[in-house]
This record gives sequence, structure tokens and C-alpha cells, in this order.
Amino acid sequence: MSEGPITSGHDPRFTPTLYAHVGRPNSWTLDYYLGHGGYETARAVLTGRQPEEVVEEVKKSGLRGRGGAGFPTGVKWSFMPNDGQQHYLIANADESEPASFKDRYLMEDDPHQLIEGMIIGGFAIRATKGYVYIRGEYRKAYDRLTAAIREAYDRGYLGKNLFGSGFDFDLYVHRGAGAYICGEETALMNSLEGLRANPRMKPPFPAQSGLYGKPTTINNIESLASVVHILQRGADWFAQMGTERSKGMKLFQVSGPARRPGVYELPLGTTFRELIYDWAGGPTEPIKAFIPGGSSTPLLPFTDEYLDLPMDYESLVAAKSALGTGGVVLIPESVCIVDAMWNLIRFYGHESCGKCTPCREGVSGWLPQLFEKFERGQATHEDLKTMEDLLDQIEGRSFCPLADAAVWPIRGALRHFRDEFLHHIEHGSCAVKSGPRWR
Ligand code: NAD
Repeated sequence: MSEGPITSGHDPRFTPTLYAHVGRPNSWTLDYYLGHGGYETARAVLTGRQPEEVVEEVKKSGLRGRGGAGFPTGVKWSFMPNDGQQHYLIANADESEPASFKDRYLMEDDPHQLIEGMIIGGFAIRATKGYVYIRGEYRKAYDRLTAAIREAYDRGYLGKNLFGSGFDFDLYVHRGAGAYICGEETALMNSLEGLRANPRMKPPFPAQSGLYGKPTTINNIESLASVVHILQRGADWFAQMGTERSKGMKLFQVSGPARRPGVYELPLGTTFRELIYDWAGGPTEPIKAFIPGGSSTPLLPFTDEYLDLPMDYESLVAAKSALGTGGVVLIPESVCIVDAMWNLIRFYGHESCGKCTPCREGVSGWLPQLFEKFERGQATHEDLKTMEDLLDQIEGRSFCPLADAAVWPIRGALRHFRDEFLHHIEHGSCAVKSGPRWR
């Protein structure tokens, strides 16, 4: 067995698809994959369907990008021109969002599923070259993926004339060097080109001008893995799971003090209560808040109102938060929310590329300095007002979403736990008795 996370993989209440083989012995090898019907979907697609039909099938399924933003995958594919130029497909494996770790196990335990998804995706967008951009810290996933690619080349599942269809597809893996910004799709392309990973202006979107100036599509690992099953079982099978506008199954992650932290593959629209209590076994200590979808998403109070929210894109937006990557973090009563936000802002400040002023001066400069005043017990009501002004000045004004990602959790903290900021101002210390745990 691999030393993977606890998953919903072996629980009969919901039969997983994406994680069906995670945790199984030798699941990362080609023989195992072929033994479970591997590459048969790619074969059927490449030999029996047209690229436009594949795009339509994915559109019809309602699959939305699983990297966090939820942009419809089929619609994104349809932006690719049919112009005879070199096209590229990039799998974004720079899974750097704190609290997100679902893609890691997809690559460690089922790398051929990703390769098959990329072959189908490449065919659909007429890309003959694909790249997997993987975060440098994912060493085991990198090793498994490169070994799987070698096996696929050796047995003719990658390279020239796949399945006799006339379609060629080459696949390369590129390791990042541990920078969060490289997960932003345009910074990622700069990094792949050997440039500094500064984001590029959008538009043009990558489909118009992407890697080396050519039409490019960048998809998340879970999205590409989902495509295999959509093409195998049909768009309707996928679309009957989930909600009206958030369709299919999704990998949710639970971390923090839960009895069974791990990755759970469940239909979109499952409630936080079900995920946290029925699947992750419930908290091991009193909880006051939770981050719903990775560190960039505004935290929510751990109350009935929010626990009963369905985990879909629309419900989270209505609750002034976001589904993001589906990475749920439980925040115990004993953690000071100001400390927790200080911890996060130092992360974002450190990871900012410094290209644009709101991020360089605001996220890396002013916000951490203000938080330090709160921590030292020196903050005033005026500082709280300055913080709120700063959030307004930063949000929506930066070059890429990194600055927004830094602002949103603080917004959630101020919306729901303002009293803890006021406690720091009025008493010079944390509101919780057991003191800071997230510093
Ligand atoms: P975005 O909404 O700008 O774009 C999402 C995708 O849709 C992109 O591929 C973009 O090119 C495409 N797109 C959007 N509008 C388009 C248009 N008009 N025409 C053509 N294509 C269009 O979001 P983003 O900057 O890609 O990602 C932000 C999200 O990333 C956040 O919501 C956060 O949850 C997530 N995130 C994830 C991780 C992780 O580790 N998975 C890390 C950091 C952030």
C-alpha cells in the first residue's frame, strides 16, 4: 500500500472514480492501469471521434475547472483556434494552495489516469505537445509520473501515431522550484519558458497567445483526470451528479483537528456537515471556524448555518466565500484568528512576485506590518481602519489573483471574527485563553 491519505476510496457509501485506485498496491504502474481498462477510452476517442465532438461532450458534462476558479473546461477548450499552428496543453500540477493536496495523490498513485486525460485533452484542442508543470516539493509524484511516461512511450501510448489514429502526442514534465506564483497560469508559462515567473497580462488569454506565443490550454490535474471518465461513461453520467450548475464529483480535502483528515471524493453539493462529520469523522476538539476551499477562500464560522451549506460554486459565493480547491481546514477555538491571518499574510507576502504595486507594497509590506502591530499589542482603532482601507485598495487592483487571494481570508476574518481584532486593540493580546498556535 502507498502511504497515501485517508480517502473515501474504500467506503461503499460513494464509489469513487478519480480515486478508485489511490492506495492500491502498484496502482501507478502501466500493467495495473491496463488491467483496469486503462487507455481504452483514449483509444476509442482517438480512433472514433472528432476533436469538436470531444469538446462538446466535455461542455455538455458541465465540468468546471478543479484548480479553484471553476471555469467551464469544455468552454475553455472551445477557445482554441483550428489554425494549424503548434498548440500546447499544460497540466497545472503546481498544487501550492495551503490546504490543497488532492492532485498529489492522483499523480502519485494513478499517473496513467492523468496521462490518458492529457492524450484526450491534447486531441480535443489539437495539441501535439503537453507539459506537466509540477511543484518542486512533489518529488514522489514527479518520480512516479516520469516513470509512467517512460512506460507509456515504451509501449506506444505516447509518441507518434497513437492507436494508429495519426495523432501524435509528446509529454514532458517540468519541475518548479517551490514558488506559489508559478501556479498562476501565465507565470507558469513564463517559468516553463525559462523566464522569471511574473504573471502576464490577460487578455490575451492563453488560448490566443500562450506558451511560446502559441495557443495553449492550462488545466488542473483533477480536471484532466475527470475527462477520462466523462468520455468513457458520457456527459450525462457526470452531469447527473452534483447540482444544477456545479456538476459531477469533486475531491474535497479535510485538514486540521479532524478524526480522519484526508481526501474525499464526493458529489458537488454535499454539505460541509456531511464531509466533516460523516466522512472525516468530526473534529477532535472544539472548532470555531473553517476555511472552506483552500487558504484563499474567506473563512466561515463553524455554525449550523454554514455547516449545512452545500459545497458547490454558487452556494459558497452566496455565503461571501468560494469553493476554491475544496480544501477544508478546521480552526479550533484555541487558535486566535488574528494569529491565523498573520500567518497567512506572511505566506502571501513572501510568495508575491513583487511585480505590481498593490501586491508588492500592500501584501508584502503594509499588511504584514499592520498585523505585527496587532500581535505586539500596539494596534489602534485607526490601524484597523487602515487595514480595511488597504484591503479595498488591493482587491481587484493587482496584476494577478495572488493579491486577491491574500485579501479574501482577512475579509472573512473581519466579517465574522472582528471581536478578536478588537480584543487585540483593547487588551493588547489574543482573545483566546490558550494563546497563539498558528504563529
Ligand atoms: P481565473 O478565473 O482568472 O481563470 C480561470 C481559468 O479560466 C483560466 O484558465 C483563464 O485563462 C480562463 N478564463 C477566465 N476568463 C476567461 C475568458 N474571458 N476567456 C478565456 N479564458 C478565460 O482564475 P485563475 O487566476 O486561473 O485562478 C484563480 C483561482 O486559483 C482561485 O480561485 C484559487 O482558488 C485558485 N488557486 C489554486 C491553487 C492550487 O494549488 N490549486 C493555488 C492558488 C490559487
